[in-house]
Amino acid sequence: MRTNSVVWMTLVGCTAALIAQVALAANVKVTPLGGQDGEFCPQGRALIFEDPIGTRILYDAGRTVAGPNDPRLGKIDIILVSHMHGDHVGNAHNKEPNSGSCTNPDVSVSALPNSNTVNIALAKKAKIVTGSEMPPFFAGKLKANGGDPKDSILARFGGSVKVGGVTIATVTALHSNGLDPDYIGGELGKNMKDAGIAGYVGEATGYVLTFSNGLVVYLSGDTGITSEQDTVVQQSGPARFGNSIARE
Ligand SMILES: [Zn+2]
Repeated sequence: MRTNSVVWMTLVGCTAALIAQVALAANVKVTPLGGQDGEFCPQGRALIFEDPIGTRILYDAGRTVAGPNDPRLGKIDIILVSHMHGDHVGNAHNKEPNSGSCTNPDVSVSALPNSNTVNIALAKKAKIVTGSEMPPFFAGKLKANGGDPKDSILARFGGSVKVGGVTIATVTALHSNGLDPDYIGGELGKNMKDAGIAGYVGEATGYVLTFSNGLVVYLSGDTGITSEQDTVVQQSGPARFGNSIARE
Protein backbone atom coordinates (compact mmCIF):
# COMPACT_ATOMS: atom_id res chain seq x y z
CA MET A 1 0.00 0.00 0.00
CA ARG A 2 2.68 2.47 0.95
CA THR A 3 4.92 3.96 -1.66
CA ASN A 4 8.30 5.41 -0.95
CA SER A 5 7.90 8.76 -2.58
CA VAL A 6 11.60 9.56 -2.46
CA VAL A 7 12.43 6.46 -4.46
CA TRP A 8 9.58 7.12 -6.83
CA MET A 9 10.59 10.66 -7.47
CA THR A 10 14.18 9.60 -7.97
CA LEU A 11 13.08 7.05 -10.53
CA VAL A 12 10.86 9.55 -12.24
CA GLY A 13 13.80 11.91 -12.41
CA CYS A 14 16.08 9.20 -13.78
CA THR A 15 13.54 8.29 -16.39
CA ALA A 16 13.17 11.86 -17.47
CA ALA A 17 16.93 12.06 -17.87
CA LEU A 18 17.08 8.79 -19.76
CA ILE A 19 14.27 9.79 -22.03
CA ALA A 20 16.17 12.98 -22.70
CA GLN A 21 19.10 10.87 -23.90
CA VAL A 22 17.02 9.60 -26.78
CA ALA A 23 15.64 13.03 -27.55
CA LEU A 24 17.17 12.87 -31.02
CA ALA A 25 14.48 10.37 -31.84
CA ALA A 26 10.91 11.27 -30.97
CA ASN A 27 10.26 11.03 -27.26
CA VAL A 28 8.02 8.69 -25.31
CA LYS A 29 5.56 10.80 -23.38
CA VAL A 30 4.88 9.69 -19.79
CA THR A 31 1.81 11.04 -17.98
CA PRO A 32 0.76 10.05 -14.44
CA LEU A 33 -3.00 9.88 -13.83
CA GLY A 34 -3.11 10.41 -10.09
CA GLY A 35 -5.98 11.41 -7.87
CA GLN A 36 -4.81 15.01 -7.85
CA ASP A 37 -3.31 16.53 -10.97
CA GLY A 38 0.24 17.65 -10.42
CA GLU A 39 0.61 15.95 -7.03
CA PHE A 40 2.32 12.77 -5.95
CA CYS A 41 -0.24 11.02 -3.75
CA PRO A 42 -0.20 7.67 -1.91
CA GLN A 43 -2.95 6.10 -4.08
CA GLY A 44 -1.38 7.08 -7.39
CA ARG A 45 -0.52 4.10 -9.59
CA ALA A 46 -1.62 4.87 -13.13
CA LEU A 47 0.75 6.00 -15.85
CA ILE A 48 0.18 6.55 -19.55
CA PHE A 49 3.05 5.93 -21.95
CA GLU A 50 2.63 7.32 -25.44
CA ASP A 51 4.92 5.89 -28.08
CA PRO A 52 6.19 8.28 -30.77
CA ILE A 53 4.00 6.55 -33.36
CA GLY A 54 0.93 7.15 -31.21
CA THR A 55 0.39 3.86 -29.37
CA ARG A 56 -0.94 4.70 -25.92
CA ILE A 57 -0.47 2.36 -22.96
CA LEU A 58 -2.23 2.61 -19.59
CA TYR A 59 -0.24 0.91 -16.84
CA ASP A 60 -2.09 -0.16 -13.65
CA ALA A 61 -5.28 1.87 -13.88
CA GLY A 62 -5.77 1.53 -10.13
CA ARG A 63 -8.25 3.71 -8.29
CA THR A 64 -7.24 7.19 -9.37
CA VAL A 65 -8.40 6.94 -12.98
CA ALA A 66 -12.01 8.07 -12.68
CA GLY A 67 -13.47 5.23 -14.74
CA PRO A 68 -13.71 4.99 -18.54
CA ASN A 69 -15.02 8.54 -18.83
CA ASP A 70 -12.01 10.15 -17.18
CA PRO A 71 -11.24 12.88 -19.74
CA ARG A 72 -7.50 12.48 -19.13
CA LEU A 73 -7.49 9.01 -20.70
CA GLY A 74 -8.02 9.88 -24.34
CA LYS A 75 -7.31 7.02 -26.72
CA ILE A 76 -6.05 3.90 -24.97
CA ASP A 77 -4.69 1.03 -27.07
CA ILE A 78 -3.20 -1.21 -24.39
CA ILE A 79 -3.78 -1.73 -20.67
CA LEU A 80 -1.16 -3.46 -18.52
CA VAL A 81 -1.85 -4.95 -15.08
CA SER A 82 1.04 -5.87 -12.83
CA HIS A 83 -1.14 -7.81 -10.41
CA MET A 84 -4.68 -8.17 -9.18
CA HIS A 85 -4.67 -6.16 -5.96
CA GLY A 86 -7.41 -3.55 -5.81
CA ASP A 87 -5.08 -0.56 -5.90
CA HIS A 88 -3.63 -1.79 -9.21
CA VAL A 89 -6.46 -3.48 -11.15
CA GLY A 90 -8.94 -1.02 -9.64
CA ASN A 91 -11.69 -2.39 -7.40
CA ALA A 92 -13.03 1.16 -7.03
CA HIS A 93 -12.20 4.54 -8.44
CA ASN A 94 -12.36 8.30 -8.07
CA LYS A 95 -15.70 9.95 -8.72
CA GLU A 96 -13.88 12.39 -10.96
CA PRO A 97 -10.31 13.67 -11.29
CA ASN A 98 -9.29 15.67 -8.23
CA SER A 99 -12.19 14.45 -6.08
CA GLY A 100 -11.28 14.18 -2.42
CA SER A 101 -7.81 15.10 -1.24
CA CYS A 102 -4.32 13.83 -1.88
CA THR A 103 -4.19 11.77 1.29
CA ASN A 104 -7.87 10.85 1.23
CA PRO A 105 -9.11 10.61 -2.36
CA ASP A 106 -12.81 10.00 -2.94
CA VAL A 107 -12.66 6.52 -4.41
CA SER A 108 -16.26 5.77 -3.53
CA VAL A 109 -17.29 4.43 -6.96
CA SER A 110 -17.19 0.63 -6.91
CA ALA A 111 -15.82 -1.11 -10.00
CA LEU A 112 -16.79 -4.57 -8.80
CA PRO A 113 -17.17 -7.17 -10.08
CA ASN A 114 -15.49 -6.04 -13.30
CA SER A 115 -12.60 -3.81 -12.16
CA ASN A 116 -11.65 -0.36 -13.38
CA THR A 117 -9.28 -2.06 -15.83
CA VAL A 118 -11.99 -4.09 -17.54
CA ASN A 119 -14.44 -1.20 -17.67
CA ILE A 120 -11.85 1.02 -19.33
CA ALA A 121 -10.84 -1.73 -21.76
CA LEU A 122 -14.46 -2.24 -22.82
CA ALA A 123 -15.08 1.46 -23.36
CA LYS A 124 -11.81 2.10 -25.20
CA LYS A 125 -11.73 -1.23 -27.06
CA ALA A 126 -8.23 -1.58 -25.66
CA LYS A 127 -6.21 -4.75 -25.44
CA ILE A 128 -5.33 -5.98 -21.94
CA VAL A 129 -1.84 -7.45 -22.07
CA THR A 130 -0.84 -9.50 -19.04
CA GLY A 131 1.48 -12.35 -18.21
CA SER A 132 1.33 -15.36 -15.95
CA GLU A 133 -2.21 -16.79 -15.73
CA MET A 134 -4.15 -13.55 -15.63
CA PRO A 135 -5.29 -13.44 -19.31
CA PRO A 136 -8.14 -16.00 -19.00
CA PHE A 137 -9.66 -13.99 -16.16
CA PHE A 138 -9.70 -10.81 -18.24
CA ALA A 139 -10.93 -12.68 -21.33
CA GLY A 140 -13.86 -13.99 -19.29
CA LYS A 141 -14.73 -10.55 -18.00
CA LEU A 142 -14.58 -9.01 -21.49
CA LYS A 143 -16.77 -11.75 -22.94
CA ALA A 144 -19.30 -11.51 -20.11
CA ASN A 145 -19.70 -7.81 -20.78
CA GLY A 146 -20.05 -7.88 -24.56
CA GLY A 147 -16.38 -7.36 -25.36
CA ASP A 148 -14.03 -9.51 -27.42
CA PRO A 149 -12.20 -12.07 -25.27
CA LYS A 150 -9.39 -11.99 -27.85
CA ASP A 151 -8.61 -8.49 -26.58
CA SER A 152 -7.06 -10.16 -23.54
CA ILE A 153 -3.56 -11.03 -24.72
CA LEU A 154 -0.95 -13.21 -23.06
CA ALA A 155 2.65 -12.01 -22.93
CA ARG A 156 4.14 -15.23 -21.65
CA PHE A 157 7.21 -15.23 -19.43
CA GLY A 158 10.21 -15.50 -21.73
CA GLY A 159 8.28 -14.30 -24.77
CA SER A 160 6.89 -11.01 -25.97
CA VAL A 161 4.06 -9.54 -28.01
CA LYS A 162 4.02 -6.44 -30.17
CA VAL A 163 1.03 -4.13 -30.15
CA GLY A 164 1.25 -1.00 -32.26
CA GLY A 165 4.76 0.36 -31.89
CA VAL A 166 5.54 -1.28 -28.57
CA THR A 167 7.01 -4.70 -27.80
CA ILE A 168 5.80 -6.00 -24.45
CA ALA A 169 7.60 -8.69 -22.44
CA THR A 170 6.77 -9.86 -18.93
CA VAL A 171 9.11 -10.76 -16.10
CA THR A 172 8.37 -12.24 -12.71
CA ALA A 173 7.62 -10.05 -9.71
CA LEU A 174 7.92 -11.27 -6.15
CA HIS A 175 4.57 -10.29 -4.72
CA SER A 176 1.18 -11.86 -3.96
CA ASN A 177 -1.46 -12.02 -6.69
CA GLY A 178 -4.62 -13.59 -5.29
CA LEU A 179 -7.89 -12.68 -6.99
CA ASP A 180 -10.36 -11.26 -4.48
CA PRO A 181 -13.61 -13.31 -4.53
CA ASP A 182 -15.49 -10.04 -4.99
CA TYR A 183 -14.45 -10.22 -8.67
CA ILE A 184 -15.97 -13.70 -8.90
CA GLY A 185 -19.25 -13.14 -7.09
CA GLY A 186 -22.17 -15.54 -6.84
CA GLU A 187 -22.16 -18.67 -4.74
CA LEU A 188 -18.58 -19.50 -5.64
CA GLY A 189 -17.34 -16.07 -4.65
CA LYS A 190 -19.25 -16.23 -1.39
CA ASN A 191 -17.92 -19.68 -0.54
CA MET A 192 -14.37 -18.59 -1.30
CA LYS A 193 -14.80 -15.52 0.84
CA ASP A 194 -16.18 -17.57 3.71
CA ALA A 195 -13.22 -19.92 3.40
CA GLY A 196 -10.76 -17.03 3.31
CA ILE A 197 -9.20 -18.01 0.00
CA ALA A 198 -8.44 -16.04 -3.15
CA GLY A 199 -8.59 -17.10 -6.80
CA TYR A 200 -5.38 -18.34 -8.41
CA VAL A 201 -4.27 -16.28 -11.40
CA GLY A 202 -0.56 -17.05 -11.33
CA GLU A 203 2.33 -14.86 -10.33
CA ALA A 204 2.48 -11.10 -10.23
CA THR A 205 4.43 -9.69 -13.16
CA GLY A 206 6.65 -6.86 -14.21
CA TYR A 207 6.93 -5.55 -17.76
CA VAL A 208 9.77 -4.68 -20.08
CA LEU A 209 8.54 -2.36 -22.81
CA THR A 210 10.53 -1.54 -25.93
CA PHE A 211 9.25 1.54 -27.70
CA SER A 212 9.60 2.32 -31.38
CA ASN A 213 12.39 4.84 -30.71
CA GLY A 214 14.48 2.22 -28.90
CA LEU A 215 13.68 3.30 -25.34
CA VAL A 216 13.42 0.31 -23.00
CA VAL A 217 11.40 0.68 -19.81
CA TYR A 218 11.21 -1.75 -16.89
CA LEU A 219 7.95 -1.56 -14.93
CA SER A 220 8.72 -3.55 -11.82
CA GLY A 221 5.20 -3.68 -10.34
CA ASP A 222 5.15 -4.21 -6.59
CA THR A 223 8.00 -6.67 -6.54
CA GLY A 224 10.20 -7.15 -3.53
CA ILE A 225 13.90 -6.84 -4.19
CA THR A 226 15.17 -9.87 -6.10
CA SER A 227 18.46 -10.72 -7.76
CA GLU A 228 16.54 -11.24 -11.00
CA GLN A 229 15.98 -7.52 -11.23
CA ASP A 230 19.68 -7.03 -11.87
CA THR A 231 19.46 -9.44 -14.78
CA VAL A 232 16.38 -7.74 -16.18
CA VAL A 233 18.04 -4.36 -16.04
CA GLN A 234 21.37 -5.55 -17.43
CA GLN A 235 19.75 -7.36 -20.32
CA SER A 236 17.07 -4.81 -21.08
CA GLY A 237 19.12 -1.68 -21.48
CA PRO A 238 19.70 1.27 -19.22
CA ALA A 239 16.21 2.61 -18.67
CA ARG A 240 14.29 1.67 -15.56
CA PHE A 241 10.93 2.83 -14.39
CA GLY A 242 9.10 1.23 -11.51
CA ASN A 243 7.95 1.29 -7.96
CA SER A 244 9.87 -1.55 -6.44
CA ILE A 245 9.33 -0.19 -2.95
CA ALA A 246 5.55 0.00 -3.34
CA ARG A 247 3.53 -2.60 -1.51
CA GLU A 248 0.00 -3.71 -1.05
ZN1 LIG B 1 -0.03 -5.39 -4.40
